Amino acid sequence: LDFLRLLPKAELHAHLNGSIPLSTLKELATEFLATNSASSKSGDAVREGIEILTVGPTLDELNDFFSLFPAIYALTSTPDALARATRAVLSVFLDGDVPQCSYLELRTTPKKTGAMDMEKYIRVVLEEMDRYGREKVALIVSTDRRMDTKTLEAIVGLACKLREEGERVVGIDLCGDPLAGEMDLFAPYFARAKQAGLGLTLHIAETIHNTPQDTLKLLKNGPDRLGHATFLNEEAIAIVLEKKMCIEICLTSNLICKTASDLETHHIQQYLKVDHPITICTDDILPFKTSLVAEYALLIARPPFGLGLNEAQVKRIAEMSLEAAFK
Ligand code: IMP
Repeated sequence: LDFLRLLPKAELHAHLNGSIPLSTLKELATEFLATNSASSKSGDAVREGIEILTVGPTLDELNDFFSLFPAIYALTSTPDALARATRAVLSVFLDGDVPQCSYLELRTTPKKTGAMDMEKYIRVVLEEMDRYGREKVALIVSTDRRMDTKTLEAIVGLACKLREEGERVVGIDLCGDPLAGEMDLFAPYFARAKQAGLGLTLHIAETIHNTPQDTLKLLKNGPDRLGHATFLNEEAIAIVLEKKMCIEICLTSNLICKTASDLETHHIQQYLKVDHPITICTDDILPFKTSLVAEYALLIARPPFGLGLNEAQVKRIAEMSLEAAFK
């Protein structure tokens, strides 16, 4: 375990609102329920969400997991709550004698809440990051597949502006319900982000229902990295290999959401065979109850519990994660 803990490695795929420690979320829930009418709709959603997260969700499909987010969002909708949640997430990854990772790219989707506009939301997150050196943590701004062009314009414009101002915004992500949205809409905004020097990472082919057309449209944007990329067809794989797009691998997330049935047939195997760039990531430690070290432990554990890799192979993967960073 010491080998895994001490290994220099980057966490490049972690969603802020999916990574809040349960203890912090419970504190925020208690305060929320004390100040909001106990019988309100959002109060019910928060109570139910905390209950599900405490037990650990049983997810029959990816959509069951997305339904947890509205309750979490209710709890991070003020600048103070968002700052506390961000601080706790950064601490999980970066604090302690031996931090989970040597470098973190945390991602979040800007939100307009009653108390914050999207710019304020991102600035609150960045302010918390300012407690750490730039070599330790940076921000990826997420867009969501459901967004309309006006929102995309605002978010990409905001990310470019903050980068120009010298803030540690290093990339743009596309996330959200894997089957929602029209992928043609996104191209001009991703092109603009790339022109501004931002890295581009796209959740892609997360479910078996994602069409090859949808996947190829996304690949045309020339992403640097791909989230999940679980169900790529041969044509897509050829592009990914040729362009050396790094695959962000989230083993536990895939197993729990049942987009991968086991590790033996997990798509990581095909990339390991050809030494293609991959990076091991947690995705959402709150529902998946994992950690970056636990994900690395899956690499080294013997089959069927892990992939049975040796230390040299795991070290190579950790090096790849540092090389794939946007900074
Ligand atoms: P946030 O961007 O900080 O609010 O983090 C939560 C959001 O990340 C969710 O609402 C989803 O849009 C997105 N997300 C988290 N996990 C996944 C995933 O596995 N696939 C696609 N989107 C995800």
